[in-house]
This record gives sequence, C-alpha cells and structure tokens, in this order.
Amino acid sequence: DTESKLQLVHTHIRPFPDFPKKGILFRDICPILKDPAALTAVIDLFEEHVRKNHKQVDLIVGLDARGFLFGPLLAQRLGVGFVLVRKKGKLPGTTVSVAYDLEYGKAEAEIQEDAVAPGQKVLLIDDLLATGGTLYAACQLMKKQQAEVLGCMVVIELKELNGTDKLKPSQCFLPNSVL
Ligand code: AMP
Repeated sequence: DTESKLQLVHTHIRPFPDFPKKGILFRDICPILKDPAALTAVIDLFEEHVRKNHKQVDLIVGLDARGFLFGPLLAQRLGVGFVLVRKKGKLPGTTVSVAYDLEYGKAEAEIQEDAVAPGQKVLLIDDLLATGGTLYAACQLMKKQQAEVLGCMVVIELKELNGTDKLKPSQCFLPNSVL
C-alpha cells in the first residue's frame, strides 16, 4: 500500500552533511535507483498521484539532471512522452531559455523550441524541491511556450525552505512530493 511504499522510498534516501558545501544536507537518491523495489515504489507513488489528480496529461517534463532519472519511467507508465529541461548549452537546434538565480550566481534552463506545443498539458518532475528556483524557471519556460502547467512533482520537499510559495504565483500548484 501507499504507506509501505513511502516507507520503502524513505529508507532509500541517504543524507550527506556538508555536501557539496558546508551547511548543505544533501539528499542522495542513488540508493532508490539501485534497488528495483524502491524504484518501482517511487514510480508507483507518482503514477497513483497523477491518475488520481489529473484527467489528461500530455507530457512529463523532467529537470536536469535527476528529474531525468524518474521522469521517463513515469511517462512510460502513463503512456505519454517525456521532454527535457536542460542546463544551457546542452540541447541542439533552436532553443528557448530562462535565466534564474542560484544561491551563488546565475543559471539558465533551456528546452528545444519544438519540445512542447501551445496548449499541451504538462507535469514537471525533479528529485527535490529546495527554494523552488529551479522548478519556477522550468515553469516559466513552459509558459513561454504556452504549455499548460498542471503541477510539479518531486520525491523530496525541503518544507522549511518554502519552495512552494515561489511556485504558487506561477500557476504551478503545490509540488506533490511523495515524501
Ligand atoms: P531549488 O532550485 O533551490 O529548489 O533547488 C532544487 C535543485 O537543486 C534540484 O534540482 C535538486 O536536485 C538540487 N538540490 C537542492 N538542494 C538539494 C539537497 N539538499 N540535496 C540534493 N539536491 C538538492
């Protein structure tokens, strides 16, 4: 059931203090990927969530890089396509990008111009929500392409950082973290 799946996923997240720098408690999701039962559980939880809350989904949009690990598996389950939001300079062809602030410095998120069509209903996925800056930028990209953002999903939400507050004004509903 849902509770035991949550428990299984939870026990497969390894916290690493002071990585990549002092003061950050890094949540490592590698153990989830290494255990087929845990990986199945996390995709089950995402799938159940989507089926319960969204009648129609056209695309799953994954964020660079750990959104790429879960997104395609979920998209296959749902029978829909998967699209990549990448860090600047990685995608060939005509691209659209949005700049956003990191804790230190700036970054740019990019998609291929023809990745999503106007009006398509998309769900965004990443491993973790911290300040929300990354998912917010991805939502902006989707809006630039006139896609309809149904919501964002993450495995882990760091609630104390209030990342969901940042996503609300962008019509991006509560990230439905499974943990
Ligand atoms: P943010 O834009 O602040 O919401 O940060 C989210 C992005 O940074 C995600 O792509 C995460 O993979 C990564 N990230 C931020 N904080 C952590 C953390 N404590 N552990 C693992 N990944 C993190």
